[in-house]
Amino acid sequence: MYDVSTRRKGCFMSDSEVMNYRVKMRELALSRRTVSFDEVARGYNENEALREAARCLRCKHAPCVSGCPVKIDIPAFIKEINHGNTREAYKIITEANLLPAICGRVCPQEVQCEAKCVRGIKGEPLAIGHLERFVCDNYYQEPENILPTKGRVAVIGSGPAGLTCSGMLSRFGYEVHVYEALHELGGVLVYGIPEFRLPKRVVSAEIDKLRKMGVIFYINTVVGKTITLEELLSTFNAVFIGTGAGLPKFMGIPGENLNGVLSANEFLTRINLMKANQKGYDTPLKALREVIVVGGGNVAMDAARAAHRLGAQVTVLYRRSFEEMPARREEVHHALEEGIKILFLVNPVTLTGEDYFVKRVNCVQMKLSAPDESGRRRTYPIDGTEFTLPADTVIMALGNYPNPLLAAATPDLLMTSGGCIVINDRLMTSKKGVFAGGDAVTGAATVIMAMAAGKAAAYEIDNYITKT
Ligand code: FAD
Ligand code: SF4
Repeated sequence: MYDVSTRRKGCFMSDSEVMNYRVKMRELALSRRTVSFDEVARGYNENEALREAARCLRCKHAPCVSGCPVKIDIPAFIKEINHGNTREAYKIITEANLLPAICGRVCPQEVQCEAKCVRGIKGEPLAIGHLERFVCDNYYQEPENILPTKGRVAVIGSGPAGLTCSGMLSRFGYEVHVYEALHELGGVLVYGIPEFRLPKRVVSAEIDKLRKMGVIFYINTVVGKTITLEELLSTFNAVFIGTGAGLPKFMGIPGENLNGVLSANEFLTRINLMKANQKGYDTPLKALREVIVVGGGNVAMDAARAAHRLGAQVTVLYRRSFEEMPARREEVHHALEEGIKILFLVNPVTLTGEDYFVKRVNCVQMKLSAPDESGRRRTYPIDGTEFTLPADTVIMALGNYPNPLLAAATPDLLMTSGGCIVINDRLMTSKKGVFAGGDAVTGAATVIMAMAAGKAAAYEIDNYITKT
């Protein structure tokens, strides 16, 4: 067990005051961040993890668990860290969460489990995500390969929804086949989130575990083109659709079709999957000097920080204020620290260029209305506040619509007007035996929400197959 008194060395706080503050995670030096895509958050070492775990009050009612979409027994795993038993902590985490090393890095814990932590009332909440990451980075257990005797299920898409659904079904004793359109598995975890936040080795290690459990993967297979949903239904007992939301939104303003204007998805995919930032690959990015990123979410921060690492001066334009920014606070903090400029209450109105290449972003200052019944504040341009910023690249990070391909090829799959797949309370679509979850159903959301949907669908699929 960790002795609290060791924390007091060199400071004048009482034991109880010290316990109000979380143990900070070490970070990659700023000087390295301009030249490399190495992971910024470096993880806890054993001593740091023990110190942080010692802050847990082991609350009987455990409000933190109610904030976790996959219901990890948080106090139980933290207690095991406290006793130096990483193996047991790993077991507790993986009972509920099949991709924990990923969640420990990218989950918005600050609005989920950590937002409910009792420690947060007087001080800083437990760093639950950091501790989850510590366990999964420091312990590995070969997964069990369970003989598939209960039936066969096809999973479309290998993002967090599809991966979680396939892992759970494999645990339940099903033969699972995953079909992925791209040449790499992992969905947004590999093509969207950059290496400096989520190293690809972490994603491939989690996928390898699923392979060892018996899950079979097919890449370069677009369901709806290479193979149809009907064909899958004719050979599998059930199908899960986890095709995500990868169709980028644009503003629809004049000049958006100029060369040098691209979606954040394209920009990040070129770097993450096609290695456009490295010499010797076929899809290079042109040299970036003055980059404008439009948006205020994680995607905008990722695009801005990636462009910064490629040597550009980066300015982010967000039409609302700092308080409304949907990006994780940690990401905004890192972006500002790395030298990225964020202009709040600013919106682009037109893009202008020369010789078909973008050169300028014409902007206007915005103001916010009072909150409406839902709490949302509308934005209005302020007359006479127009100004222009130079740019050789403009990256639109405005969100994504669900991927439309499968739906277009499957007319009897019921969709909302926004392109999301409609499901019933058993998570089944309008087609019998076809279930769906993740961003394809909710629209762009989070990794853990997609995982929770994949997990819930696995239970429903099991129920459906065993009862029909
Ligand atoms: P996806 O991850 O989109 O996976 C869907 C998969 O289905 C893709 O691999 C796609 O190629 C495949 N597919 C699509 N159509 C077909 C077809 N017809 N046939 C076969 N395969 C198909 N969330 C967080 O919680 N924290 C973050 O920090 C965070 N950062 C983000 C940063 C970026 C740049 C982006 C884009 C998103 C971020 N998100 C973050 C959101 C999160 O990644 C998504 O909510 C999550 O990945 C959704 O999971 P999914 O499994 O539903 O879909
Ligand atoms: Fe520990 Fe916070 Fe959960 Fe209480 S709410 S058990 S202090 S992590």
